[in-house]
Amino acid sequence: MNTTDFSNLPLSKEMLHNLNEIGYTEMTPVQAETLPLILEGRDVIAQAKTGSGKTAAFGIGLLHKLQVKKFRVQALVLCPTRELADQVAKELRVLARCAHNIKILTLCGGAAFGPQLGSLAHGAHIIVGTPGRILKHLDKKTLTLEHLETLVFDEADRMLDMGFIEEIDKVLEYMPKTRQTLLFSATYTDEITAISKRVQKDAMSVKTVSTEVANKITERFYEAQNGNKLETLVNIFSTFLPENAIVFTNTKLEAKEIAEQLQKLHIDALAIHGDLEQYERNDVLVQFANKSCTVLVATDVAARGLDIKELAMVVNYDIPHGEETYTHRIGRTGRAGNEGLAMTLYNTYEIQNANEYQNTTRLFEDSSMLKKVKGFEMRPPYVTLVIEGGKKDKVRAGDLLGALTGEAGLAGSAIGKIDIYERQSYVAIESRLIDAAHKKLSNGKIKGKNFSVWILQ
Ligand code: ADP
Ligand code: MG
Repeated sequence: MNTTDFSNLPLSKEMLHNLNEIGYTEMTPVQAETLPLILEGRDVIAQAKTGSGKTAAFGIGLLHKLQVKKFRVQALVLCPTRELADQVAKELRVLARCAHNIKILTLCGGAAFGPQLGSLAHGAHIIVGTPGRILKHLDKKTLTLEHLETLVFDEADRMLDMGFIEEIDKVLEYMPKTRQTLLFSATYTDEITAISKRVQKDAMSVKTVSTEVANKITERFYEAQNGNKLETLVNIFSTFLPENAIVFTNTKLEAKEIAEQLQKLHIDALAIHGDLEQYERNDVLVQFANKSCTVLVATDVAARGLDIKELAMVVNYDIPHGEETYTHRIGRTGRAGNEGLAMTLYNTYEIQNANEYQNTTRLFEDSSMLKKVKGFEMRPPYVTLVIEGGKKDKVRAGDLLGALTGEAGLAGSAIGKIDIYERQSYVAIESRLIDAAHKKLSNGKIKGKNFSVWILQ
């Protein structure tokens, strides 16, 4: 038996079965190192890079202890951003399929307060959220953590960067001192050790960085041709033809502008930055993840923690502020053993800054070697349909598939990823069939009801 088999852990039959169903055959290094300790009930502080499977490490741990019959909040996962909280909740829901009726609720800033009150009134076993909003609910007594068993800090370094420490301190006052506390962070600074000392007891420290298989990432640096970064970026795209890419900028304004300029050049791009409303951010992320958008132009904060599978390319449109940001950004490509491309653009006057990134594995390339393809375009294979009905309306993926593919409907192969949220659902449809699909869903019924349907663009 392999030591990285989940079956070596004292997990329930149902959990092991579910992991198998999800396709998790072996533990990732961070899971193999932390899970035995977590299942013993120890406090653990773990450092591992993005994409290493931290969510399942703490998720399996907290679900293992959960007493489903006791309908009260037993676990709290604190995250730095709403996107990350949504992603963690999503993964937890998949892991929680091992048992019936586990309620997982996200509580994040930027979302309306009222509906959260309604959901809280219905109760939950697990809360995932951002510190500020959780504190607000605790202060208003709409949330109680008296019965908390497990506290998780996900991306603790980022929460500190974002100045959440005061809120975190206040949240801690609302929970029992006896509890299991798990702390995950991509970096291991003095600040992280300090917070661990305050919130944890005899924490076991796990670092898996060295044992992990390195991402296969090719790092290339290009000086902008004729001082024109946009043109150089397009030439990078036309030379390497990535299926998708995230372009990082240092400012929100730039993110907006570059996305607009790319669109004018027929490169399908959307921006994600702090000025968007939460629903707009969600629309953008869904489209990027379901291949209805090929290029995401993002600031660091907006892209933090996103787990976008199979990201072909990361571009630093600006030289990042420091190695740490650089590493975080490029770590989004080349995941799960796939090859990734990390490109960095700089202007002639930034050469000194760029040179600080010189090392033996980074290639400083001649940008005149990039291909210039006349009329080059990047179009996504899918377009997204939005249906104004979600979990609240008991809409399931099967219902949407059924409504689209039923009599004289679309072929199943024309339908891509389906995402169901509380009040909305998103379906990726092959671009050439989008109008037909729109018509079919607008005229037809889903679960016997008429829902508004529109095309996201
Ligand atoms: P992190 O939080 O460390 O950045 P995630 O928890 O988001 O990483 O996991 C990254 C990806 O790896 C996710 O898509 C997740 O579903 C997948 N994953 C996690 N654990 C396993 C496993 N044991 N086997 C296969 N895939 C896994
Ligand atoms: Mg994570």
